[in-house]
Amino acid sequence: MAKKHLNDNIMYWERYSHDKIKDIVHQALEQNTPYRDSAPVLGIPASYLDRTEFYDDAPFLKDAPFMKTMIENPNHIGCHTLDDAGHIDMFAGTQQIEKELIQLIAEQIFKGEPNQQDGYVATGGTEANIQAMWVYRNYFKKKYQAKTEEIGLVYSEDSHYSMPKGANLLELSSIILQVDEHTRAIRQQSLIEKITEARAQGIKYFIVVMNLSTTMYGSVDDVERVTDFFEKEKLPYKVHADGAFGGFIYPFTNEKDPLYSFQNPRISSFTIDGHKMLQTPYGTGLFLIRKGFIQYVKTEEAQYIPGKDYTICGSRSGANAISIWMLLRAHGSEGLKIKMQRINERTTKLCKRLDELGVKYFRNPHINIIAIKSGQFSARFAQKYHLVADSYEFDVKWWKIVVMDHVKQGILDKFLLDLDANLNTEPTH
Ligand SMILES: *Cc1c(COP(=O)(O)O)cnc(C)c1O
Repeated sequence: MAKKHLNDNIMYWERYSHDKIKDIVHQALEQNTPYRDSAPVLGIPASYLDRTEFYDDAPFLKDAPFMKTMIENPNHIGCHTLDDAGHIDMFAGTQQIEKELIQLIAEQIFKGEPNQQDGYVATGGTEANIQAMWVYRNYFKKKYQAKTEEIGLVYSEDSHYSMPKGANLLELSSIILQVDEHTRAIRQQSLIEKITEARAQGIKYFIVVMNLSTTMYGSVDDVERVTDFFEKEKLPYKVHADGAFGGFIYPFTNEKDPLYSFQNPRISSFTIDGHKMLQTPYGTGLFLIRKGFIQYVKTEEAQYIPGKDYTICGSRSGANAISIWMLLRAHGSEGLKIKMQRINERTTKLCKRLDELGVKYFRNPHINIIAIKSGQFSARFAQKYHLVADSYEFDVKWWKIVVMDHVKQGILDKFLLDLDANLNTEPTH
């Protein structure tokens, strides 16, 4: 693993005041070419948002940079971390903020080397995951002359359903690894068996998705153990880390872990959702990848886009990138660290109380999800607190709690009192 100086590993970016954030966004919008009644913008199939409803002279807008950007409606189509790609220079101002945002997350939060990562703001974790599969599928096809049917997508049974969705779209064979029922860790025996079986069926190239926290359990896959296996077997593989949920909490609650970062040469890309832990609006997924890979999904036919397109989604609002950048700057690295650590501590405290009550659950100590074994209280009780079940199709085995920002100590105290009174008192169905 590449060693860096210890100081380089300390995450840092400055916190900005609301006024400074506002000024920077307004300056960026100034650098964009606005759609104005008087502006000579004649060739683009876009305009500001329809003023029948989205009027641009609402007084609050001058103090609301995200809304202002929404209404001015810059298009961030394409990938703005590529220096050689041309861009629609009409929106260069806000696209520059997206570029800085990708660099900040890749270099400060995920400890990449300066200017060595590409990325973009995707619609969400689903798109970012499928984007990664698309890149690696084409990489194996171009670099190894692989046939589509020789490429497998490896992921655990606890992975997000965007994996089977992407496998279906891209015609990849799913290789689904079993996990231990209690620890939710990928079973080594299953890894060995499933890969052996896949090889016997002609799969030669492996796209491996590792969870930087699963949605249901908050479990984090053992990326070292799984990749050791592929290394030992000398199989061509590429690893994508799905940090849609955990990407904005784990790096702050387990800062010293070099495994889920760009310092780990075995991981090439990450998905991170802003619209989960960072509390940005929907439409703020992030896709980050080492330089040299995104070219595998360059759509040459994107003739009318200067610089072509490298993304699944095409046109997308610049306001989404602005919203992520604003939040990162509003907190600064120190503020975000404190926020995420507080949430994690609240989760730990809740676990301690569950221990005292003798409740059985699973939890990764760096993630704010607690999966409680079913059968300890009624479904009615679980529904009262909007706990989410592992399955709405089969028998419930787990109920999960996600300690989000709004899940304050007061409501947790009430929940625990109520839980104490409801433990094992009713039939569980
Ligand atoms: C939420 C989530 C996704 C999908 O993200 P969307 O933003 O809903 O598309 C993918 N993977 C994990 C682990 C998630 O938690």
